[in-house]
Amino acid sequence: MCLNEFFDREKILGLFKDLTDNRRLPPTLLFTGNSGHGKREALIDIAALIICENGRGPACDCSDCRRVRGGNHPDAVWFEPCGSPPSIKIEQIRELRRKIILKPYEAKKKVFIIFQAEKMTEGAQNALLKTLEEPPAESMLLLAAPNAGGLLDTIASRCRIIKFRVREDPASEPERREIIDDFLSLREEKVEELFDCQNRERFLSVLKALQGFYRDVLFFKSGADKKLILNKERQSEIFNLSGFYTSDSLRGAIGFLNEMAKMANFNVSLRVCILNTAAGLKSVRGAEV
Ligand SMILES: [Zn+2]
Repeated sequence: MCLNEFFDREKILGLFKDLTDNRRLPPTLLFTGNSGHGKREALIDIAALIICENGRGPACDCSDCRRVRGGNHPDAVWFEPCGSPPSIKIEQIRELRRKIILKPYEAKKKVFIIFQAEKMTEGAQNALLKTLEEPPAESMLLLAAPNAGGLLDTIASRCRIIKFRVREDPASEPERREIIDDFLSLREEKVEELFDCQNRERFLSVLKALQGFYRDVLFFKSGADKKLILNKERQSEIFNLSGFYTSDSLRGAIGFLNEMAKMANFNVSLRVCILNTAAGLKSVRGAEV
């Protein structure tokens, strides 16, 4: 198991933020990776980053970010397959072409997202090509597909490709639930009991599960769509905790767990890793507002 897989969303957001901060943003990005938890939410986050001027990322709770997440911002436009069998049709791309040349309604840039872009018909892809050849200055196009091979070469070669490794590990689902059950029922001073000091894999699983949980709280706090919550069976606790933590303390907790995972991957003694993690988690709990 590679814990880093879990952080790809953050990695992609970091890369993206770097590109926007340095104004080096190519007009068309293609996100590749298999379907699963994470790709859609990353695209939502990125669309919000492009539109929102606060630069606060997924924790931002401004009206722009809330509307992007809710799918009702006029400058963030989604295209997805429709019909049976589902495909993205030439009419949809013509609609995109009509809209993409208009000025943004509110933001500085418009974002067009083509989800499951591999389902574009050949006619649709050829129609899109004209836009890629002359991208409008005030718009960005984000495409998502399992791999670049699912698109015509003429399309893929005009995109900056960002690989998205998706965390897909259904076998760990029961373990994740069990870890979160234990975490929520343990008293603060007993948090060490989550870990098994003989088993480094278990340590990484706990970190991964806790990070997902804190990420859910952060998501809930920022008004993200509930569909994106990983620990769906724990929605009431997530809702309650979202009122107790600040966004900064949640981001801090996620970053801290990331650091602990790195430490464990560098073969630091497992006992030291566990002690540090337990102390950190206690201080996170102590940071409730
Ligand atoms: Zn915002």
